[in-house]
Amino acid sequence: MTYRREEHNWIPESDLEGVSVDTLAVRAGQIRTGQLEHSDAIFPTSSFVYGSAAQAAARFSGDEPGNIYSRFTNPTVQAFEARIAAMEGGERAVATSSGMAAILATCMALLKSGDHVICSRGVFGTTNVLFQKYMARFGLETTFVSLTDMDAWQSAIRPETRMLFIETPSNPLCEVADMSALSALSKAAGALFVVDNCFCTPVLQRPFEFGADIIIHSATKYLDGQGRCVGGAVVGPNKLMEEVYGFLRSAGPTMSPFNAWVFLKGLETLPIRMRAHCDNALELAVWLEQQPGVERVFYAGLESHPQHQLASRQQSGFGGVLSFTVKGERKAAWAFIDATRMISITANLGDVKTTITHPGTTTHGRLSPEDKASAGITDNLVRISVGIESIDDIKTDLKRGLAALAE
Ligand SMILES: *Cc1c(COP(=O)(O)O)cnc(C)c1O
Repeated sequence: MTYRREEHNWIPESDLEGVSVDTLAVRAGQIRTGQLEHSDAIFPTSSFVYGSAAQAAARFSGDEPGNIYSRFTNPTVQAFEARIAAMEGGERAVATSSGMAAILATCMALLKSGDHVICSRGVFGTTNVLFQKYMARFGLETTFVSLTDMDAWQSAIRPETRMLFIETPSNPLCEVADMSALSALSKAAGALFVVDNCFCTPVLQRPFEFGADIIIHSATKYLDGQGRCVGGAVVGPNKLMEEVYGFLRSAGPTMSPFNAWVFLKGLETLPIRMRAHCDNALELAVWLEQQPGVERVFYAGLESHPQHQLASRQQSGFGGVLSFTVKGERKAAWAFIDATRMISITANLGDVKTTITHPGTTTHGRLSPEDKASAGITDNLVRISVGIESIDDIKTDLKRGLAALAE
């Protein structure tokens, strides 16, 4: 059969087999309407119409595939799902209204009352709250253990353990988990191994290659990368994703077509952005380590980092987030932050703009003092999500922070 480009409303999946993640980021999942537009179309519609009552019946019964209602499926959202699934090397992705909705949907769809979860201690603050406060009310018990302490993971396993949940690298201390080891432990326990891949994105780390069963994304961070939208995704095998999809369709925290379109555009530049973030962050980490006002820098790209070798094996880059402690207490950390002028003071991360925050009183502010202490969130800790501005200009701004420490 002759390949006639104009008849192709989408790129056949077989044409994208074996291509790199950089190409998938630009090309995978694109759909074209009859207008053969070059960019992706947005379908801002709540519902879809049918040619006949019989067709409506066939759609509802599932005998005929096709859209019904945008809480169930929407073409723009499906394009985003296809692209992130291809980039992660997963069978299927389900888009959600936020990263938290992705975690909630995964738990609600795949766990039940009486199940036990083991979660790494340094997870995103709200993830901690979700497990500790809300999931607990529905009979789900969670044990928090250190991300890097394999003995702790092993001894936390119980007969009713059904999920191991991690973020790697962790926020804000950039600890790195041994995914292959955790996957083996999880399999032996008959539990699902869930990896929140928000910090690395599939450009730097592909957790399925290290035995993850499910990957979580907050698309709000690097996938968009320009601070425009809140969204998320769950990626995994068809069988599990059918359950997650079923929950979302019934519960409702699905992604809007507008946001899906923004994320599709974001993904196109994700590979080049991630490399720029990594380059800037590594240079900054090395530079910060040499500054007299800085006590310790946490970044897996540094040779001083305890899991530097592991990170080098699992990741093709060390990411854009780093943290460091300043000499002094909270006052010093706040003075450092307040002295910067260009860098945005915000808890958001994964943006082209460099952002700075004090985890102890923002992202991790709701943790109890004990939880903070065991997670290593000290009062003199500052986190930077390194953007893609000129590294010299970022340093110039941080020198203001360093000067404030000296005062
Ligand atoms: C931000 C974040 C989330 C939550 O995502 P939202 O889109 O804000 O709901 C989950 N995990 C990690 C690692 C995050 O950074």
